[in-house]
Amino acid sequence: MSIFSHPAYDKHEQVAFCQDAKSGLKAIIAVHNTNLGPSLGGCRMWPYADDGEALNDVLRLSRGMTYKSAMAGLKLGGGKAVIIGDPRKEKTPELLRAMGDFINTLGGRYITAEDSGTSVADMHIIGERTQYVSGLIAESEHGGDPSPSTAYGVFVGLKAAVEHRWGKSDLSGLKVSLQGVGNVGFRLAKLLKDAGAELFVTDIFQDNIDRAVSELGATAVGADEIFDLDVDLFAPCALGAVLNDDTIARLKVGAVAGAANNQLTEMRHAAALGEKGILYAPDYVINAGGIIDVYYQQQGDYDPARVKAHIETIGSTMQEIFQRAAETGETTAHVADRIAEERFGHEDASKNIDPAAA
Ligand code: NAD
Repeated sequence: MSIFSHPAYDKHEQVAFCQDAKSGLKAIIAVHNTNLGPSLGGCRMWPYADDGEALNDVLRLSRGMTYKSAMAGLKLGGGKAVIIGDPRKEKTPELLRAMGDFINTLGGRYITAEDSGTSVADMHIIGERTQYVSGLIAESEHGGDPSPSTAYGVFVGLKAAVEHRWGKSDLSGLKVSLQGVGNVGFRLAKLLKDAGAELFVTDIFQDNIDRAVSELGATAVGADEIFDLDVDLFAPCALGAVLNDDTIARLKVGAVAGAANNQLTEMRHAAALGEKGILYAPDYVINAGGIIDVYYQQQGDYDPARVKAHIETIGSTMQEIFQRAAETGETTAHVADRIAEERFGHEDASKNIDPAAA
């Protein structure tokens, strides 16, 4: 397997591999770019089919973190870690401690946080061996969980989309469909409900749907029906690659603004949305509330009012993207990439790299 010519390599500064026979740890840390500060990104544990799949994932995710943090105005670079293994069967305190030792060898160039397959409790164990762990601050209002901040940031960005698309700041009567009412989606739904929006929700877990129906008066719809609704705005808050040839052809909305990562299956889908007159709020910009929260936790001076004010800058960033896209005729996704590259000093800021690969 070639590393330097890997399609997702994209000038990574450093990729480190670790195998610890005693604990069974097999892990990769990717540091994409540290121009703006130390790289920060979650530690994912996943039963990857092979090393190549793990490498591909960590490279794409770490690159995505560079763009996300740059757009959020944080003094952070992009990095990510993956542990190869099934978190339900193979995650032990010994393995997590070995991961802590591995992270420590990078001397602070990479700071870890929770991600799929790892929890705040796991971060505490990793933190026994390294100081380069975030998401541990109990005094943050929600014990380290970034989801409420992510939801708030999505709400702020969604309001900017409504303002740009329909020229109004009032959400009352706005019909919003939400795919996924989990940690972020449910909180976003509550903010929307409080602002007077009408909600249509789907999820793969019936209890999540029931909670949104009973607590927020949402209308439940089928998992596939969500794309065919006659509503104003679609908020994907479940999984990636949700915007594709099939779904875009079916969507009747005027805007897409939601929390899910990697919503565009390919970069060309940003253009397909634009051609249908659907305003797209770039995912890594609108869902940055969580990384902003984690950044302040890492700084060690967590002030909720300051965190909230920073998250609210997502609104002005989103307006800048929409404005530049309207002026240049480029897609909002391209414009976001370009602004991010200008901010972190990409060698060729005029060159766009497919964010669907991030
Ligand atoms: P979550 O697992 O709590 O919620 C996701 C919900 O989507 C679950 O309730 C799940 O049942 C549902 N779902 C999954 N597949 C579905 C499908 N096909 N149709 C309908 N519902 C489906 O996760 P979360 O923390 O709320 O994150 C949601 C999304 O936001 C993810 O894409 C995540 O990567 C992204 N995100 C989350 C954060 C954060 O702070 N949690 C930050 C940035 C981005």
